[in-house]
Amino acid sequence: MTDSLDLGEQTIELLRRLIRSACVNDGTLASGQEIRNAHVLADFFSGSGVEPEIVESAPGRATIVVRVPGSAAGASLALVGHIDVVPVMHGGWSQDPFAADIVGEQLYGRGALDMLYLTASYAVATRQAAIEGRALKGDLIFVGVADEEGGSRLGIEWLMQHRPELIDADYVLTESGGVPVGGTNGSPHAVTVTVGEKGLARRRLLVRGIPGHGSAPWGSSNAGVIAAAAVTRLTRFAPKAVIGDYWPRYVEALGLDPDVARRLTSEAEILGALPALGELAGYAHATTHTTISPNVIRAGDAINVIPGSASIDLDIRQLPGVSAETVDDYITEALGDLMEHIEIVDIVGASFSPANVSSMDTPLFEVLAAVIDEAYPGAVPLPIIAAGGSDARFYRKLGKHAYGFSVLSPGWDYGRFRHLIHANDENIDLDSVRRTARALDGVVRRFLG
Ligand SMILES: [Zn+2]
Repeated sequence: MTDSLDLGEQTIELLRRLIRSACVNDGTLASGQEIRNAHVLADFFSGSGVEPEIVESAPGRATIVVRVPGSAAGASLALVGHIDVVPVMHGGWSQDPFAADIVGEQLYGRGALDMLYLTASYAVATRQAAIEGRALKGDLIFVGVADEEGGSRLGIEWLMQHRPELIDADYVLTESGGVPVGGTNGSPHAVTVTVGEKGLARRRLLVRGIPGHGSAPWGSSNAGVIAAAAVTRLTRFAPKAVIGDYWPRYVEALGLDPDVARRLTSEAEILGALPALGELAGYAHATTHTTISPNVIRAGDAINVIPGSASIDLDIRQLPGVSAETVDDYITEALGDLMEHIEIVDIVGASFSPANVSSMDTPLFEVLAAVIDEAYPGAVPLPIIAAGGSDARFYRKLGKHAYGFSVLSPGWDYGRFRHLIHANDENIDLDSVRRTARALDGVVRRFLG
């Protein structure tokens, strides 16, 4: 059945099966259960002449790997797609998030965009190379990996510790990328390729107050009240903008009014100019600033007790070159005199991971440029630094070149893309799935022969 379909239709069919498995990862050990999607993929590869290997880091937390051997003379390429998805907000969707229904030209479902359409494209391109029996210049490795959404401890990180040989490669493609930028609709100036990502620092603020009876709060030292003041100060704190090498290229590709473009690339003026970017403003801010987001705030247990302690967990994403010490300096500066009540602690296991960037001067990047030009004649790759993290960082830490690559249809812009990730009614248009399937097949053919 599958063989009679072209690559785009195979990808759409496989994507729908991956969504229906509902491998929802809420961060707990027992969630995810990626074994379901590992089986979907093993079934997809059956009869193609390659032997998938499924490994479990914990019961049900499965990763599937397929290696199509090439000549050892050439560089190897891994296509690394996660097979887990984030939870849904029940009642927030207009479609069933796990039915993978197609409405008009849109395919709805949790994971449709993040990143099962890419994972499906990787599997289809890999299977195609296998069934054609191509003489590849280097190994082609498909990795359908667990636990990206939970921080990768049961996925890529576990594999790198326990089975590094299984997923090793010289070059890696993973999420995200592929957003057309500038030009006229259908003929963009550029298409995003993610070449790096901001770093991650997680800090917990422990706030000390003095417990007391809630019936007489006057003059009390309420840890919840101090925490609220701390959150306000952190939210107002703005580390200086850093324009860097990549953001000005993005602004140029957008083809904006020259004065707006000038302000958006000025460290002194960018904050005031952000509203001109609409949905892209959040990304523009994130890619030019180290950001601090207070996301978990806890204080108090009983309604009649003034809390003596509170905690605030900070999700900090730092720009390239910003050290762990600088992060702590930012917090101290933002909190000022409140620091006498507050202690900064690392959140164990994920306290600091530096920003990371791959070179654009590689043979794979040249291939990506050629495939983009094929998809959109005249368009060039637009390198961007992602605000969030992906599995690429684990490969970059080993010195491998990793890029986020895909080819979305003309209607997309980066604001819409970021807006739909992890959101209600996540969806992707069928044209984008077909374009990406073609593009991935093109990359494999050009890079590995
Ligand atoms: Zn993802």
